[in-house]
Amino acid sequence: MIARIVEAAAMETESTSFNPRTWVSPAPPADSVSQIAPEPVVSEAPPAKRPTALWVGGSVIGLAAMAGLALLVPWGAFFGKPGAEAHQSAPAPVAAAAPMAAPRYDTRIFPAADMNELGLSLEEMGIDTGDAYFAAEEVIAALGTMEPMTVTVELDSKGAKPAIHSLTAELENGAAIRLIRAGDGGFKRESVVETAQVRVRQVGGTIKHNIFYLSAVEAGIPNSLVSDFTKAFAFDIDWGQIKPGDRFSATWEENVTRAGREVEPPRLIAVEYETDGIKRSFYAFTPPDEAEPRWFDEGGQGNARSLMRTPVDGARITSRFGVRKHPIYNIQKAHNGVDFAAPTGTPIFAAGKGTVIFQAMAGGAGNLIKIDHGDGLETRYMHLNAFAEGQGVGASVMQGQVIGYVGTTGGSTGPHLHFEIRTDGNYVDPLSFENTVTEALTGAELRMYLAQRKATSAEIAAANSPKKPAAKPAAKPKPQG
Ligand SMILES: [Zn+2]
Repeated sequence: MIARIVEAAAMETESTSFNPRTWVSPAPPADSVSQIAPEPVVSEAPPAKRPTALWVGGSVIGLAAMAGLALLVPWGAFFGKPGAEAHQSAPAPVAAAAPMAAPRYDTRIFPAADMNELGLSLEEMGIDTGDAYFAAEEVIAALGTMEPMTVTVELDSKGAKPAIHSLTAELENGAAIRLIRAGDGGFKRESVVETAQVRVRQVGGTIKHNIFYLSAVEAGIPNSLVSDFTKAFAFDIDWGQIKPGDRFSATWEENVTRAGREVEPPRLIAVEYETDGIKRSFYAFTPPDEAEPRWFDEGGQGNARSLMRTPVDGARITSRFGVRKHPIYNIQKAHNGVDFAAPTGTPIFAAGKGTVIFQAMAGGAGNLIKIDHGDGLETRYMHLNAFAEGQGVGASVMQGQVIGYVGTTGGSTGPHLHFEIRTDGNYVDPLSFENTVTEALTGAELRMYLAQRKATSAEIAAANSPKKPAAKPAAKPKPQG
C-alpha cells in the first residue's frame, strides 16, 4: 500500500518529483502506527515500525470556511482527520484515485495564490477560458477561502483543446477539494483526504565551517535532523573540533502528500561521517519491544562504545596490568598499563574519541601521547617511534584514528606500545575496563536489522541512481514553512 519514492536531494533539493505511476488508492485510515498491520516494505524486509501512509485531512480550518463547506459537502466526509473519527467512518472518498495510474491524463502540479491566478494558470495550459474560470470559481466556492493552494490538474488531451478531467486543490492546512468532470460538462465535487507517501532522500556534503550545523543545513539536511545526526556520532566525533574537508551524508524519510506537503517531521534513517580517511556509518533501527530507534553500524554494533582495548593491530600482549618486576630497573613496581609488542612503525590508534592533550618526548615514557576522552577519562600511549603527521596538542581524534607509530623510545627494551587508561586520575586495567555498555544486535534482532539495512541501502542506491521518476511537476509547489 505504501508508495515509496526515492529521490536524491543532492541533485534536486527544492523540487518535488512525483511519478504518477506510484500513486495508489488511499490506505484504510490509521490513527497510530501500532494499528497498522506490519507490511513488508521490501520483500526481504521484516515488519518495520515505520509510520506508513498517513490519513490526512483538514483538521483545522477557519470558521468561515467551515460555514461555506457545510453547505457543500457532508461534514464527516470532508473532515477526514487523523484519529478515531476518520477511522470509524472509514470514508474512501478518493477510492476512484486508482485509475490515476492510467496514462490517459497529463498531470500538472502548480501553486495558486488565489482564484484569478488559478484561472490564469489553467488558461495558460490551453484550457478554454470559460472552463478555466468556471473551475476556479468552483474551487473557491468549495473551499470557501482564497488562501494559497497547491493544485493538481489532470488534463484530457483527446480534443482539440486540453480539457480538465480532474482538478485537486489542497490548502496548506491539508483541506482539499477535487473536481471531476461530469457527464453534463460540469464538475462533480469530491472531498479529498490526502494520503501521504514515504519518500527517501539523501544529501551529502563537506564541512566548510567549524560549526557542523551550518554545513549540514547548507547541504540540505533539514534543521530538525541536525541534532539527531550529531547524537548518532556522539561516541565518535567531537563536534567542537571538526575539520573543513570532512565529509558527511544523511538519509531520511519524509511523508509527503502528492503536492509535496510534509505531513509529519522527517526521520533520519542513515548517517555517515568521514574524517582522516575513517568513515563511519550508522543506521536507525528500532529493536522489537523498543519504542525509539537506536543507531547501529553495518554489523549491528550499537553506536555507544567503550574504549578500544587493543589500540594497535597485530600486537601481542607482553605485559599485563598489575605488579611485576620492572625489566630495566629490576624492582617491584606497579605496571600501570598493558604492553603490546609490535614491529616499529606499526600504527597506533586512538582508543576512543577525544582530544590530544600531551604529545612530546617525556623521559622514560619516550614519545608520549595523552588523550582526554572527557568525563575524567584519559588514555596514554608510550615509547612511540613517531607521532601522526600534522597532529599536535589540541587535535581532535576519532576512535580508531592513527595517532602515532610503535617504537622503543624512552625506557624500553624493544618496540612496543605501553598503553594506559586513567579514570579520574586512577589507573585501571585496559583489558577489563568498560566505560560504556556496547550493545550489539544478535540472533533474530540482528537478522531483522540486516534485512532492514539492506532495504535502506537499496533505497539509498535508488535515490542516487540517475534513473529518476519520470514525471515532473509543472511548477514548483509553494515551499511549505
Ligand atoms: Zn609498559
